Amino acid sequence: MQPIQLFDVSSSTYTYVLFDETTRDALIIDPVDEQLERDLATLRQYGLKLLWTVETHAHADHITSAAQLAEHAGARTAAPSGCGITTAAKQLVHGDVLNFGKESLRTLHTPGHTAGSMSFVWREHVFTGDTLLIGGCGRTDFQSGSATALYDSITQVLFALPDTTTVWPGHDYQGRTHSSIAGEKSGNARVAGKTREEFIAIMDALNLPPPKRIDEAVPANLHSGIRHDAHGEPQCGAGAAQQPQVQAAQGYAGDVAPQLACAWWQSGDAVLVDVRSDAEREWVGFIPDAVPIAWKQWPGMAMNADFDQALKAAVPAGKKVVMLCRSGVRSIAAARRATELGLEAYNVLEGFEGNPDGSAHRGQLGGWRKHGLPWRQN
Ligand code: FE
Repeated sequence: MQPIQLFDVSSSTYTYVLFDETTRDALIIDPVDEQLERDLATLRQYGLKLLWTVETHAHADHITSAAQLAEHAGARTAAPSGCGITTAAKQLVHGDVLNFGKESLRTLHTPGHTAGSMSFVWREHVFTGDTLLIGGCGRTDFQSGSATALYDSITQVLFALPDTTTVWPGHDYQGRTHSSIAGEKSGNARVAGKTREEFIAIMDALNLPPPKRIDEAVPANLHSGIRHDAHGEPQCGAGAAQQPQVQAAQGYAGDVAPQLACAWWQSGDAVLVDVRSDAEREWVGFIPDAVPIAWKQWPGMAMNADFDQALKAAVPAGKKVVMLCRSGVRSIAAARRATELGLEAYNVLEGFEGNPDGSAHRGQLGGWRKHGLPWRQN
């Protein structure tokens, strides 16, 4: 049985989907945010239920879709405890096992590329992230990297796996898909036959330019891929200065704290659109006088003409629109769409209920309902 291997061309990143053939329970390793729709389509194509998103480390070259997969597919987020990804629901330590159906993934702490980096073993396969690449290895010159630690991780932890173990790397820049522990032991240009000192000398001499997206990617990845933090944490919690904020965002007018969204809405400056489904509203609660327009975008679907029409009808000229969903993920997509339609659109941070797994603001905002803003149970 083989993993499903998916490739992101722009960052040369491999993403892997593993699943139990009977129960269809699945997990995904190192998903890429630009590939969210591809990955959701893959899950649908194979009839899979995504239980876990798993990171090998906090990436510097692409942004994870972990938080979005948590929202769209109901997955839980897992990340190495040493990576500072505080939003991940499961903080992995060496030897942890993630179960999916009757299958399981075992974690190996393999520091060096970053101090928290992990590799994952499933059956006779190992997913090595940037610890071990085909014929090479990840760089060690930033993000708590250490050539000494990497040498030990590769030669003592990964090379202790059976020689026949298939190696599935986090990247390849030459079109290669996988190798084996035996192949890397004998053929890896950086470690095969090299002493630790020789390896360190090789790594020290690399002189690589910084990854293009590091300043954007690392802060986002420390929050499971949510990009709110670029402009600092909002100060909306009890005791903080009650100065509601708008934060700049990509593709729409901005992110707003629930209190400010509510103030705009109650003063008539903005229309509040609730993009949750009818079932969610009935189950959890609703906001009287918010306009219900469900966001049902799904891979393979044509653009949602019903959504567009209802939205245009609901927002008079000159008014802002603020989008609210369960936890502040779908509302971002809806705000982007509203922007494409020519509206001044904002996303309500943390949505109606707050986002315990995937949010940059866990415990700080907590969503609309926690702030005593108007809502009702059916
Ligand atoms: Fe990396």
